[in-house]
Amino acid sequence: MGGFDFDLMVIGGGSGGVRAARMAAQRGARVALAETLGTNGLGGTCVNVGCIPKKLYSYAAQYGEGFEEAHGYGWEGEAPLLNWATLKANRAKEISRLNGVYSNLLRGSGVTVFNGFARLEGDHQVGLATLNADGSPGHQRLTAQHILLAPGGTPHVPHFVGREHVITSNDIFDLPTFPQRLVVVGGGYIACEFASIFNGLGAHVTQLYRGEQVLRGFDDEVRHFLAAEVTKAGVDLRLNAGVLAIHKQADGLHLQLEDGNTRVADAVLYATGRVPNVNGLGLDVAGVATGAQGAIVVNGHYQTNVPHIYAVGDVTARVQLTPVALGEAMVVVDHIWGAAAGKAPRSMAYDLIPTAVFTHPNVGTVGLTEAQAREQFGAITVFRSEFKALKHTLSGSTERTLMKLVVDTATDRVVGLHMVGAEAGEIVQGFAVALKAGATKAVFDSTIGIHPTAAEEFVTMREPVKAA
Ligand code: FAD
Ligand code: NDP
Repeated sequence: MGGFDFDLMVIGGGSGGVRAARMAAQRGARVALAETLGTNGLGGTCVNVGCIPKKLYSYAAQYGEGFEEAHGYGWEGEAPLLNWATLKANRAKEISRLNGVYSNLLRGSGVTVFNGFARLEGDHQVGLATLNADGSPGHQRLTAQHILLAPGGTPHVPHFVGREHVITSNDIFDLPTFPQRLVVVGGGYIACEFASIFNGLGAHVTQLYRGEQVLRGFDDEVRHFLAAEVTKAGVDLRLNAGVLAIHKQADGLHLQLEDGNTRVADAVLYATGRVPNVNGLGLDVAGVATGAQGAIVVNGHYQTNVPHIYAVGDVTARVQLTPVALGEAMVVVDHIWGAAAGKAPRSMAYDLIPTAVFTHPNVGTVGLTEAQAREQFGAITVFRSEFKALKHTLSGSTERTLMKLVVDTATDRVVGLHMVGAEAGEIVQGFAVALKAGATKAVFDSTIGIHPTAAEEFVTMREPVKAA
């Protein structure tokens, strides 16, 4: 591959970029990766301001509930108080350890890592804005036979009066003081998760969602069940609600709501979606085509309209999940180097991607919602179980669990599996394998449960609640 500095140049050191760079280097390619390291260390959104710190804060919040619930099990004494500074410091320490792990993995695989903002400067050219030793801006130009764009996404906040006073998920982990009064705007993954987390950590949380019910796209029953559970847990969830304007005053942020009400908050988190991170990327220079909101358009091999320029992950605005970005990155590497390594071509299937929303309780889901299955198959059978988990018979908590199976009546195949309850993410991961393997309801029925668990309900539901 003579004439080029590298065989592969990766822009973005997040989930997709790091995986592609490592795998390509392991195949013997000469690989470079550029990462801005602006607000993030290596590892991207997931490691720095996404999945990992979010899950750590979710664990922190669970302790809050746990201390209360322990009284029912005989533990006495006052619940300890949260030290926000300690939580932030411990999280930061763990994240910088992970940044180091990513750095070592890349360098250990032989990837050349550049710190700087990268942009396309031609068909095979990437310009790198760096800092010289004296702090003055520097520039470097590299050439590569293949280029992978994996710059991820960034939070989107709509325009309104007072927009400058709100924060996004990038800011929430490091707020200088704990927000005792938090307003969360949005009804998607991030809004729901942070509403639960800060409620669990002890804040008074109001969540404002513009539509009829949160988590649009999830099974309707799951959405309603979750809304009821988080409300019971203390989140003040307001549907068909929104913000008109925000004014900063001495005692906090004053929100004027669309329904005429007002609210005062210490912080207002906008979790109203994310947009592709394409500003300044030079897509126009290289002639790379984009779609809605700047999302890079790719084919099944993640090639853009410029065939040696690929794109994976959030920048393609398809399914914005870390395991999906990882899977897409592996498809790209196998597409370019797989045949030489004797590997069969890989492709990504998007139909049975399991996912969890780390609310309290969790939502876990794989496959079709009841409505989607009805539309696709016509005749479906629905099994449903709702109960109080054994743990809560003594804990005093009124939390309930929902489990639901959606079955294609004609083939008996389980086409949707949904849960709202403790550790739904952990439980649904395992059942996702069964759905991928095409398990029928008869296979579920012949599977022996593990007793006593909540998960055993998935293999013991016998009577359908709906069959039509
Ligand atoms: P990213 O991980 O965002 O990486 C892109 C990298 O590119 C960044 O490091 C950025 O600094 C760098 N970059 C951008 N432009 C340039 C440039 N021009 N030059 C050099 N570098 C550049 N997913 C899950 O599966 N589970 C979860 O629990 C989960 N929780 C989340 C919680 C939050 C709050 C958020 C925001 C997201 C969460 N996600 C979760 C989604 C997940 O983080 C993303 O889908 C995933 O990180 C996408 O990976 P990526 O490689 O496309 O981009
Ligand atoms: P989502 O797209 O999931 O949700 C955005 C929410 O904001 C929706 O409720 C949407 O409403 C609402 N909204 C959009 N625009 C406006 C507006 N102008 N005014 C008021 N409300 C608005 O995005 P998130 O930001 O929550 O998360 C981004 C992605 O990151 C997720 O889709 C997911 O893929 C990923 N993620 C995954 C997690 C996980 O795996 N556990 C956790 C966190 C993020 P409507 O529904 O009406 O359009």
